[in-house]
Amino acid sequence: MSDLDLVMQRLTMRGHRITETRRRVLDVLVSMPAHFTVDDVLRQLPDVGRATVFRMMKLLQDLNVVCRVLMEDGSLHYRLSTRGHHHHLVCRDCGKVEDFSNCDVSSLVQQLAASTEYEIEGHWLEVYGRCSTCRALEGTAVGA
Ligand SMILES: [Zn+2]
Ligand SMILES: [Zn+2]
Ligand SMILES: [Zn+2]
Repeated sequence: MSDLDLVMQRLTMRGHRITETRRRVLDVLVSMPAHFTVDDVLRQLPDVGRATVFRMMKLLQDLNVVCRVLMEDGSLHYRLSTRGHHHHLVCRDCGKVEDFSNCDVSSLVQQLAASTEYEIEGHWLEVYGRCSTCRALEGTAVGA
């Protein structure tokens, strides 16, 4: 099943109609690079309103088919992803994003909940660094 089919299946299973606009936004989303901004989507769909695209992205997040990545420069990107709770490893040089799901934050969250009496509803963790490709490239540049 393609990404597009999967997303449409989840939408209809939750009782959302696939309107013409939604279909067009979805077509653009699956053609995007590994991660993208709402502005990237809007550039492909000049006649679709910004609020419409934001609502759609929120809906897709709720359906667990899109996740958000906070880039090191503070810009918010989106990424098609059907995995559940996970975090990102972001290369600050080439912008590559990798997922990781071994989330060791749970014990910290439990401690926090116990010590502050908060009902903890979520957390966000991105890890920034430089990927092995970028590090290798730098190595050759220095050596040359
Ligand atoms: Zn993700
Ligand atoms: Zn890199
Ligand atoms: Zn986590």
